[in-house]
Amino acid sequence: MQARKIWAALLALLSIAMTGRDMEEARREMVGDIVELDEATRGETGRDAISKKVLDAMQKVPRHEFVAADEVSSAYRNRPLPIGHGQTISQPYIVALMTDLAEVDADDTVLEVGTGSGYQAAILSELVKHVYTIEIVEGLGREAARRLQRYANVTTRIGDGYQGWPEHAPFDAIIVTAAPDHIPPALLEQLKPGGRLVIPVGGQWLGQQLMVLNKNQDGTATSKEIVPVRFVPLTRDKR
Ligand code: SAH
Repeated sequence: MQARKIWAALLALLSIAMTGRDMEEARREMVGDIVELDEATRGETGRDAISKKVLDAMQKVPRHEFVAADEVSSAYRNRPLPIGHGQTISQPYIVALMTDLAEVDADDTVLEVGTGSGYQAAILSELVKHVYTIEIVEGLGREAARRLQRYANVTTRIGDGYQGWPEHAPFDAIIVTAAPDHIPPALLEQLKPGGRLVIPVGGQWLGQQLMVLNKNQDGTATSKEIVPVRFVPLTRDKR
């Protein structure tokens, strides 16, 4: 009886270990897919390759912990996935691209608008000093806060990210993961001179462009269109 129990416990442990390894392998394939897509699209944009430190963060963060239980088997496919409330966790390639475009450093304080699952915030947390992230849908914000508990340098909040997060500004970089039809002025204001705002801009039907705005020392900004993208709309808190 006792021996059987020990055997069962050993088997259970083994299956957990194997799952961990399978997930790591699946993640390695996902990173391979990201690199492939990056190489294929770079010609159009003239960008540098996605940096190694961003790919390392993508290799490290367990994306399967940020998707619904019934989507775990798809967690490492290079595509967006539903996270409830009509929202989606972005395609891994887009997460890597946006993180790379933000050009973050270990000393940086970064704002994310649109916490969603919390995955993008977890990726950023591997690369910067502190991540502040805002989500407008309460249910999603709460769930993400729970998932992000073990990422000590991430602070979450439920609210309208159109207004940024003035209490923690200025930021070295801001990443917006929902699309407004214009650049929210508060976000540019809350960016440090020299900082980067990475944001999809455009309507739902006419197409959106992923843009990078560099804030100059004199407060003006220089913007660049990177690639066409498709994000959920940035909604506004009307209360
Ligand atoms: N970064 C997320 C993906 C986000 S999907 C991830 O890694 O999973 C976009 C998210 O932006 C959705 O959860 C949506 O509810 C949220 N959102 C939309 N408008 C917002 C606003 N004004 N302020 C904050 N979050 C907003």
